[in-house]
Amino acid sequence: MLFKKKIQDCIIIGSGPAGYSSAVYAARADMNPILFTGSQPGGQLTTTTSVDNYLGFYEGVNGNDLMNNCKKQAERFNTKIINQSVIHVILSNKKGGIHRVFLDKKKYLESRGLIVATGSRPKFLGINKEKKFMGLGISSCATCDGFFHKEKNVAVIGGGDTALEEANYLAKICQKVYIIVRKGYFKASKALQERILKKNNIDILFYSNVTEIIGYNFLEGIKIFNQKNKMNRTILISGLFLAIGHVPNTEIFKSKLDLDERGYIIVQKGETRTSKPGVFAAGDVQDPIYRQAITSAGTGCMAALDLEKYLSLCEEYEKI
Ligand SMILES: Cc1cc2nc3c(=O)[nH]c(=O)nc-3n(C[C@H](O)[C@H](O)[C@H](O)COP(=O)(O)OP(=O)(O)OC[C@H]3O[C@@H](n4cnc5c(N)ncnc54)[C@H](O)[C@@H]3O)c2cc1C
Repeated sequence: MLFKKKIQDCIIIGSGPAGYSSAVYAARADMNPILFTGSQPGGQLTTTTSVDNYLGFYEGVNGNDLMNNCKKQAERFNTKIINQSVIHVILSNKKGGIHRVFLDKKKYLESRGLIVATGSRPKFLGINKEKKFMGLGISSCATCDGFFHKEKNVAVIGGGDTALEEANYLAKICQKVYIIVRKGYFKASKALQERILKKNNIDILFYSNVTEIIGYNFLEGIKIFNQKNKMNRTILISGLFLAIGHVPNTEIFKSKLDLDERGYIIVQKGETRTSKPGVFAAGDVQDPIYRQAITSAGTGCMAALDLEKYLSLCEEYEKI
């Protein structure tokens, strides 16, 4: 791997909407970004079929097509895209300091600026057909995919705040919403529980586990086992929403950057600055709340602008 400069201005880790958006902005500001795609080039959207809520695509867009376009746009401005994962980082504590990004035990790149856009991954139940039907009836985002199930029956799995928020959202669009909870109670806040209990198109199934996903080419229903009465039941649904949590991809940043209790990178309010100078975070990796492609692209833009400002301040500082 040969680069014009020994020490880079901008290395981007991740190739989802946040990574590519920061690449476009960084490249156009002459920061010559190098972007590492990781093991999922294009990020989470490559696991879905239709994206209907990304602004500018009035007829919707296929997730893979959208991410291919993002890649081409970043390449148009000469972003260097490398199909590899970063396995380890050494981050400097000094303003203007140099960070090291390792691709294997020995091979590393050095840069003053780093944009972390490693995203997150939804948690799965671990049953057959679950990943196969992702985007074909199974989803981890009601805001993204709820509309495809307008006036149909759907189920949400989980008993926490996210699950009840998702169920609440879906109850406005869908005919019937089942909430499937493993335990005999909700973990969600009392206020949310009260809101849910008032809805007459929500059916709550406590002590229940999904044992089988039904369907050939797309989801048609699920089988459930009730641990209390030991009964099996089949429900026919067009959509299954997994709301059992997300895991931020921050394993390589543990004890290097400040993370919250769930592992999300902590950034300064309204900015993308992390706990280390010159290191910025964008997208789902720093966002446990919105988790949308458009918000990820937005924070990707912010990270590139924040880095540009940081580098110019470092230059001025060095001149003094
Ligand atoms: C099935 C599904 C459907 C969705 N539908 C929609 C929708 O319709 N509309 C919407 O707005 N949102 C949708 N979302 C959410 C959306 O995909 C995410 O909010 C968005 O992709 C987050 O973008 P990101 O750039 O932060 O990270 P991600 O898309 O998660 O990408 C992370 C990137 O980081 C890379 N990476 C991770 N670790 C490393 C490493 N160590 N080294 C190098 N690279 C690394 C990965 O390979 C990947 O390229 C959906 C999500 C899923 C799972």
